[in-house]
Amino acid sequence: MLKTRHVHDHACAHGHPPSDALRVAEARCAEKRLKLTPIRREVLEHLAASPAPIGAYDLIEKMHRASGRRPAPISVYRVLDFLLEAGLAHRIESRNAYVACAHRHEASDLVVFMICDTCGCVSEASGAPVQRDLAAIARGADFRPATQVVEMFGRCGHCTEPAEA
Ligand SMILES: [Zn+2]
Ligand SMILES: [Zn+2]
Repeated sequence: MLKTRHVHDHACAHGHPPSDALRVAEARCAEKRLKLTPIRREVLEHLAASPAPIGAYDLIEKMHRASGRRPAPISVYRVLDFLLEAGLAHRIESRNAYVACAHRHEASDLVVFMICDTCGCVSEASGAPVQRDLAAIARGADFRPATQVVEMFGRCGHCTEPAEA
């Protein structure tokens, strides 16, 4: 079993506790002197409320439904860039969508995403052993990775039927 520094399920339709991404974001922004503007907070709230990653256009729809205002795509992309850079959200490459991150890890940390094919929820874990092993693999291949993304697909604990008796 891989030792992870943190394992966390995002708020899930199955009754996971809601993500505390907002609380973490407030602390992190204060610490790093970043500004959590109203639109940044609004985007993060939508991401934190969803167990599944949200694409930029779905995000705009959600914001429109919630507030009656439809933000320009460019503003939403700017906010997403800010959240990614601040380590408050992640991009799930395979889904071209975003999840809030409630963990306090460095932006450079390798994160493993576990994506449920059934309910779409995403959990993340990061751990030094994976990071070390991947770095060794890249070194062995004389390859210099610019980004390191690990996405696993399968079924989350909630979607896995308990073993039939
Ligand atoms: Zn994270
Ligand atoms: Zn699931």
